[in-house]
Amino acid sequence: MARTVWVDRDECISCGLCVSLLPEVFRFEGGKSEAYNPLGAPEEKLQECVDGCPVGAIHWKA
Ligand code: SF4
Repeated sequence: MARTVWVDRDECISCGLCVSLLPEVFRFEGGKSEAYNPLGAPEEKLQECVDGCPVGAIHWKA
């Protein structure tokens, strides 16, 4: 099964990076990002968001 990601809403600072990079996966909900469709992109694209988030709020599900 493909790995998936989740966003820690307490850590997210709403910079918008993940939402602009992968709008098919992330969206703003209540002012914070959520991974509404965590299987919506290949792992390497998700990894770019994990690596690019300035506060490390995007995590791989174990
Ligand atoms: S990149 Fe990180 S801080 Fe920015 S909106 Fe996404 S989860 Fe939030």
